[in-house]
Amino acid sequence: MKTVIITGASGDIGREIAKAYFKEGYKVAAVYNRNEKSAQSLKEELILTDSERIEIFKCDVTDEKEVISLISAVKSRFGNIDSLVNNAGISKIQLFDNISLNEWEEILKVNLTGPFLLSRECVKLMLKNKSGNIINISSMWGQVGASCEVAYSASKGGLIAMTKALSKEVGLSGIRVNCISPGLIDTKMNAHLSKEELESVVEEIPLGIIGTPSDVAEACIYLEKAKFVTGQVLGVNGGMVI
Ligand code: NAP
Repeated sequence: MKTVIITGASGDIGREIAKAYFKEGYKVAAVYNRNEKSAQSLKEELILTDSERIEIFKCDVTDEKEVISLISAVKSRFGNIDSLVNNAGISKIQLFDNISLNEWEEILKVNLTGPFLLSRECVKLMLKNKSGNIINISSMWGQVGASCEVAYSASKGGLIAMTKALSKEVGLSGIRVNCISPGLIDTKMNAHLSKEELESVVEEIPLGIIGTPSDVAEACIYLEKAKFVTGQVLGVNGGMVI
C-alpha cells in the first residue's frame, strides 16, 4: 500500500486530491497549515471508510524545520513516502508597482520554496527506494503570465522550471516529476471575481466551462499511473492555454 503526502489538503483542490488518492487505496497524509477545522472534517469523512489510511498533519511549507518534522512524522505513521503532491499555494491580485518586497517574498516562499523543501526531503527517501512520484500544482499563469498577478505568475513559472529540471536529475533513480497546470477552477481562490468577470473569462475558454477541483484530482491520479511520463506540464484548463 503506497503513501502520499498532499499539501494544502485543507483547501478546495487539495481536499479533492486527498479523496481521490484515498479512493485509489493510498495511505493519505493530508497537510494543512492554519485551517485545522477543514483538515479535521476531511479526516472525519475518510475515517468512516478506513481509519488506518488517513492522517492529518500541520505544517507551514515555508518553514524548513516544520517540513523536516512533517516528513519524519509521516514516516513514523505510515512507514514510507511514495508520492508527494505540492498543492499548497496562495495568490494575490495587485498592480506590479504596488507589490511590497514582503508580499513578493511571501508568494515565492509558499508557491516555490515550499515545494522545493518538501521535494528535497522526499527525494532523499525516494533515492534510497529508487522509486517515487512528485506532482507540482502550478497554474496556466505560470505558462503565459497574468496581468496583476506578476508575483503569482513568477512563482508558478518557477515551479514549472523546477519540475522539468528535477525530472531530468532523478529520472534514472526511478523518480518521476510532473506538473499540473490548472486554468480557472471553481474554488474560493477565485471568490474575488464578480459574476461579470467570471463570465468574461469563461468566454475565453474553448470548452465554455469552469473546471472543478475533481478535474485536477483526476489529473493527479492519471500522472500517478503514467509510468512513461515525466517532466511534463499537464494543462487542466478547458483549452484556454494550449
Ligand atoms: P485554497 O482553497 O485557497 O487552498 C490553499 C491551500 O494552501 C490551503 O490548504 C492552505 O492551508 C494552503 N497553504 C497556504 N499557505 C500555506 C503555507 N504557508 N503552508 C502550508 N499550506 C499553506 O486554494 P485552491 O484553489 O484549492 O488552490 C490549490 C492550488 O491550486 C494552489 O497551488 C493554486 O495556486 C493552484 N491553482 C488554483 C487555481 C484555481 O482556479 N483555484 C488555478 C490554478 C492553480 P490552510 O488553509 O490550512 O492554511
